[in-house]
Amino acid sequence: MTTVQIFGEGNAPARPVRSVGRAMWRGFRCRCPNCGEGKLFRAFVKSVDHCAACGEDYTHQQADDFPAYITITIVGHVVLGGFLAVETLFLLSNWVHLAIWVPLTIIMSIALLQPVKGAIIGLQWANYMHGFGGEHDEPEPSGQ
Ligand SMILES: [Zn+2]
Repeated sequence: MTTVQIFGEGNAPARPVRSVGRAMWRGFRCRCPNCGEGKLFRAFVKSVDHCAACGEDYTHQQADDFPAYITITIVGHVVLGGFLAVETLFLLSNWVHLAIWVPLTIIMSIALLQPVKGAIIGLQWANYMHGFGGEHDEPEPSGQ
């Protein structure tokens, strides 16, 4: 098994390498990034505390607003690019554009938010972020 030293701590134990791509793909499919079997979500964007299949602890995930930012970026590029392409190729009224792009924006945003959050949790898990490596993720002292 390949191990890698993460965060450069001299006396920290080496950890097995976790495939970021595989973990993010499993998360995108709303499955446990560790085993790929258990469900990652118990509600729309509420992750499970522990994987039902392998027991991996997901209370450490801190995706926060990042999945929303990624979803906005993806949907914005698709909708804006699609709008501009259609606008240059066809002569459509504003009402037709509204009828196409507003529902597409809403549907894509709802459809992508959960898979994108799963991928972000997979990214955090694969990189041992936020306690996925076993240590506590304490905030930095402010120095005040
Ligand atoms: Zn699992």
